Amino acid sequence: MCEMCSQNSIQRFEPSRRSVLGVAASAMGLLLANAAGAKEMKAPPKPQNVLTPAASLERLLKGNARYVDGVSLRHDFKHEREALAGGQNPYAAILSCADSRIAPEYAFDSGRGDLFVCRVAGNFANTETVASLEYAVAVLGTPLIVVLGHDSCGAVSAAIKSLKDGTTLPGHMPSLVTAIAPAVNAVSQQGGDNLGNAIRQNVIDNVAKLSSATPILSTAVEQGKLKVAGGIYRLGDGKVEMVG
Ligand SMILES: [Zn+2]
Repeated sequence: MCEMCSQNSIQRFEPSRRSVLGVAASAMGLLLANAAGAKEMKAPPKPQNVLTPAASLERLLKGNARYVDGVSLRHDFKHEREALAGGQNPYAAILSCADSRIAPEYAFDSGRGDLFVCRVAGNFANTETVASLEYAVAVLGTPLIVVLGHDSCGAVSAAIKSLKDGTTLPGHMPSLVTAIAPAVNAVSQQGGDNLGNAIRQNVIDNVAKLSSATPILSTAVEQGKLKVAGGIYRLGDGKVEMVG
């Protein structure tokens, strides 16, 4: 049985949200139906990860400060393995660029089971990443999603060039251009740092997309159980600056 199928113990939605759960169950199949029907609540594997959205963001930023200062914690992975074998309750979800220099677990000085990370070049939300983040929020109880862009992003840079020159990238890469194009077009008349502006706008756009993604994420935001935030990672010093 896979990790997602075996995760049936944590359900954060109130019974009054049956209508939302009903839609969610139909959308996500037996996955959420099993979670909603779970009567036996066992303790989360990481009780310290049960946080409010604000406390989750504070913990992320403190972890980033340690990473920037070069004083990251020593993570005892061996000790954690047994507790995490039976489940997970990550305290934050990250939608990050796939760029090898970012590494969210390092950037936020977090251990295993702490971050639910989705990565794609250009850190945009597509159907599959929205679905994955819905799972994190509705089933795992994750209180925070951070869309994490970064400076000098090759995917955004390639999208700008492709749109400007009217060229088509090889292989499947045009799909990245299509996803990033709205942000590029939105800032094309702004002047100044075109790449930096597009990277920032892309983060802002995807924060808005996730916050309003019905029915699961939007409802969790309305209930105050979820915050969706944006950040930009600076390659030079590792600092994450919040956006918006
Ligand atoms: Zn990138």
